[in-house]
Amino acid sequence: MLVIICLRCSSCGRDSEASSKMEDFYELELNIKGLSNLEESLDDYLSVEALNGENQYSCESCQKRVDATRCIKLRSLPPVVNFQLKRYVFLPKTTTKKKISSSFSFPGQLDMGKRLSDPSSNYIYDLAAILIHKGSAANSGHYVAHIKDESNGHWWEFDDECVSSLGFHPFGEKPGKSSDKADQKSEGTSTEGSVANGNNSSHHEAALTSNMGEMFSSTDAYMLMYKRSSKDENGIKSNNIVEASNSSLPRHLMDEIDALNASCVNECGEYLSKKDNLLASIQERRQEVKSVITEAPATPDDDSYFWISLDWLRQWADNATPPSSIDNSPIQCEHGKVPASKVTSMKRLSAKAWEKLLSK
Ligand SMILES: [Zn+2]
Ligand SMILES: [Zn+2]
Repeated sequence: MLVIICLRCSSCGRDSEASSKMEDFYELELNIKGLSNLEESLDDYLSVEALNGENQYSCESCQKRVDATRCIKLRSLPPVVNFQLKRYVFLPKTTTKKKISSSFSFPGQLDMGKRLSDPSSNYIYDLAAILIHKGSAANSGHYVAHIKDESNGHWWEFDDECVSSLGFHPFGEKPGKSSDKADQKSEGTSTEGSVANGNNSSHHEAALTSNMGEMFSSTDAYMLMYKRSSKDENGIKSNNIVEASNSSLPRHLMDEIDALNASCVNECGEYLSKKDNLLASIQERRQEVKSVITEAPATPDDDSYFWISLDWLRQWADNATPPSSIDNSPIQCEHGKVPASKVTSMKRLSAKAWEKLLSK
């Protein structure tokens, strides 16, 4: 949006040409400290600031330093307006940032036409997205975005890879509460952050006012995105917004999305086949252990049996990747014999099971 910052000499009343400048702003940074809603913040942003004392400026016409006024004027507005809410304030004493967690309210529909330097009636904007910082510290926390699907007015919460429906309300529909407008409105006037909702400290509200439609408020929203109402531009709301918005996505973004989707499908496929293979090998391994164990007991009258190290047998049975060959050294002495003292760490194995283990 085009913004003019103008300086006016209080003595001669002339605007400074050197210091007045036109700038193209991507977003408006609004103060919220001590202010309770978007209208107040915009009033503050566009208010006339006095430049006195140390802040005097030197007027080209008066040829001296004079008192002056500084103001910001909006010359034009883009299709999407971003408001950065200054929730983080710098504390010079501690050189740290502090988060302002007071409740701040904003309308579902915003008239920006009256804010233009040449006021116009057809600049109505609809709330399109809210960026939220969860947490009380300024330099940590968690970020989520609430975004409206403009084709149907449905709101969604984007929390990392988790996307959940909020219904037709930017902070989710609250069943049982929505019918009680009076209750909501009285809560909406509560003082800063004093009302916590449920298990987190975030606090969001909705209230109805007669002139500007629905009002919402949040203690954590730090950026608001408003999109110019399509009603406004075309006279009537167009029915093919979905088509229009899809084809209006830049080609390189569509390509990136397609590539990401393809690689996701690919990775999911690889994961599933890896999982199937692993399950199959675990199953096979179980069968192998089972077949040896069932044949392990040597019958009392069977003469041919073998002693096997219990440690080794456990290792062989319990590991997905078993040791390759039988190792009886744990139960043998240095001469290769089996001392009687090792009787507790060995097991008698039938010849059949022994053969099976040996052939692995
Ligand atoms: Zn002057
Ligand atoms: Zn020995």
